[in-house]
Amino acid sequence: MGDEQVGSNTMAEIINIKHISKSLELYNSIKEHTVNIAYCGLSYTYWARIFPIIQDMENYSILGKPRELIVKGNRPLTIDRYRLYLKEKTNKNYPHRGYVEALRALRTGHYNYLACWCEPKLCHLSVIIEAFEWDIYD
Ligand SMILES: [Zn+2]
Repeated sequence: MGDEQVGSNTMAEIINIKHISKSLELYNSIKEHTVNIAYCGLSYTYWARIFPIIQDMENYSILGKPRELIVKGNRPLTIDRYRLYLKEKTNKNYPHRGYVEALRALRTGHYNYLACWCEPKLCHLSVIIEAFEWDIYD
């Protein structure tokens, strides 16, 4: 049960890591690996030191949003810039190593949650979920 959906992972929810500690049930599920969760923010090593529960998540920080893309006070524009960035990184004619593989793993990995620090604010994870439908997985 639950394994029939190979292909686009439309089941994953976006979650804010800061909210995980507020749910003991979710926290324990991550600890016990009964909930499948992927960290998609930047600086995995740094944040995992400060927030050890991250060590119990799969690490996809390669897909994090580089700080130079941030337009202060304008999340929609920041997200548009991230979309262009990810399109370039996954361009079929010149794909950068690791990005397509990371997206493919997320897409097919049956993750319950994709984790960042933004939710409920607009987040680059919305672009990652969009990217599950891009024509880049040949
Ligand atoms: Zn985010």
